[in-house]
Amino acid sequence: MDKPVTSHDFPDRLLASLIDQNHPAYEEARGLYNAMIDKRPRWIIPCAEVADVVAAVNHAREKQLLLAIRGGGHSGPGFGSCDGGMVIDMSPMNRVDIDLGTSTVRVEAGCTQGDVDRATSAHGLAVPAGLVSSTGIAGLTLGGGTGHLTRKHGLTIDNLLAAEVVLADGSVVTASEN
Ligand SMILES: Cc1cc2nc3c(=O)[nH]c(=O)nc-3n(C[C@H](O)[C@H](O)[C@H](O)COP(=O)(O)OP(=O)(O)OC[C@H]3O[C@@H](n4cnc5c(N)ncnc54)[C@H](O)[C@@H]3O)c2cc1C
Repeated sequence: MDKPVTSHDFPDRLLASLIDQNHPAYEEARGLYNAMIDKRPRWIIPCAEVADVVAAVNHAREKQLLLAIRGGGHSGPGFGSCDGGMVIDMSPMNRVDIDLGTSTVRVEAGCTQGDVDRATSAHGLAVPAGLVSSTGIAGLTLGGGTGHLTRKHGLTIDNLLAAEVVLADGSVVTASEN
């Protein structure tokens, strides 16, 4: 077992939620949809807000850590995890806000397809996306995103209006057409 992680190793902001190999939640937290992939990250950081993601990205850059970003964990080859490095786990960030005036939806990067469908369908709306509710909406969108509504309404990414992105230098930018 590793020695306990202290504030010498991690900023306090991340230490509070950090899951390492000694943590009782470690085995569940490292699990991926494709159970044939067996990766053992050294640290998993569940992020509750953008500031946590920024702190984690900065920490990984400063300490030169291998870093993976995990959305819904559905990547076939397990690209949402890594061996020996740090995983930013987006799953606590699962808020969905709908603007009925513009029929647009803002979703946090830890949302699954099911989180989005539940919120939108209550208003008779839908985002063209995938077929399986546990797929992460962020990873799915990055891959294009195909599903039942694609022929009529395009890919998920065709319907993406803007994205808030944490860059490798820790800055937060909004990417959009405008
Ligand atoms: C059962 C199943 C059903 C599927 N059905 C469909 C389908 O109907 N339509 C379809 O288009 N695809 C489908 N897919 C494919 C799926 O969209 C991709 O595997 C997608 O990459 C999964 O995203 P995730 O967030 O769940 O996975 P993860 O493994 O968490 O992430 C996948 C990749 O995206 C990156 N990533 C995730 N979130 C972020 C973020 N916030 N910022 C930066 N990088 C990020 C990860 O680092 C990783 O490289 C399916 C996959 C499975 C296993």
